[in-house]
Amino acid sequence: MNQHIHITIDGPSGAGKSTIAREVAKALGFLYVDTGALYRAAALGVLEQGVDPKNVHEVCEALSSLEVSMKLSPEGQRTLLNGRDVSGRIRTPEISTAASFIAQYACVRSFLLDVQRDIAASNSVVMDGRDIGTTVLPNAQVKLYLTASAKDRAFRRYHELRTKGESVSFDEVYREILQRDERDMNREVSPLRRPPDAIELDTTGNTLEESIALVLKTVKERLRLVL
Ligand code: C5P
Repeated sequence: MNQHIHITIDGPSGAGKSTIAREVAKALGFLYVDTGALYRAAALGVLEQGVDPKNVHEVCEALSSLEVSMKLSPEGQRTLLNGRDVSGRIRTPEISTAASFIAQYACVRSFLLDVQRDIAASNSVVMDGRDIGTTVLPNAQVKLYLTASAKDRAFRRYHELRTKGESVSFDEVYREILQRDERDMNREVSPLRRPPDAIELDTTGNTLEESIALVLKTVKERLRLVL
């Protein structure tokens, strides 16, 4: 049996996965792994080469000159593109959209699969993403599927972006969330799906603190059962 504990948190964009996963990892003393950051870094690398994210052939070709990795520091995960720390640069609406385009391609998914599995092979992790419980870590001891209504998720994202000084409208953010859902759920390779053995938690209407408490309680109960 695997001596490391793996907790997967999948769900659609804006469900609060990353903040919640980070807090849960901190409470348990596990490593938090944000897999969306890897897709974002790959998207940045593709855009920097002047490649159109909608062109699958060019995107797959561009990967051969990209190296995406994570540096694990006490302050948390840093995301590296060809050795360069791009953790801040990948948090823009442009990268969100490009990442969700390239995440549809099999070449991109297999390119990033080993990075994710390598980290889990040597650490107890809380890993969040879209296909972690279904594809990346199918044998994880605890699997969660975190959802919230699209309106709720868009509101959270909208406030996050406005706080950072981005001038976006709510309608724009809402549309973008719906489009990302559509691409994430309907792609052929590793679509966003609730793993059949996952616990589904709906955080609609919750404050962040309420969601963190709910997830932490659920994880601890589950760990007591499986360990
Ligand atoms: O979670 P985040 O919004 O940072 O992810 C960016 C994009 O990367 C998502 O819209 C999704 O299309 C893709 N992604 C994925 N599989 C993962 C993590 C992210 O397809 N495990």
